[in-house]
Amino acid sequence: MSDTQWRLEVDRHTCISSGMCSGIAPDHFELEGDGSHPLADVVDQNEAVIDAAESCPVEAIKVFNAASGELVSPVD
Ligand code: SF4
Repeated sequence: MSDTQWRLEVDRHTCISSGMCSGIAPDHFELEGDGSHPLADVVDQNEAVIDAAESCPVEAIKVFNAASGELVSPVD
C-alpha cells in the first residue's frame, strides 16, 4: 500500500441508492439491492472517485489516504 492509493468506504445504511456514484465512476462503484459498494477497496488516486464522493447526496462515500488513513473526501 502506498501514499498514492486511496481506500474507499460506502456506508450502506446511509446510502439511498441514488446511483450518482455508479453513474460518475462506474469503474469504482456498483449498485446492488442494498446500496452501492466499491468494486475495489483500495484504488490508485483518480478524480472520478472524488467526484463521486462529493456528488453523493447523503455523503455515504468516504475516501481515505490508504497509507495514512487521512480523510481525502468529502471535505468542507
Ligand atoms: S451516490 Fe451515495 S447515495 Fe447514491 S448510490 Fe452512491 S453511495 Fe448511495
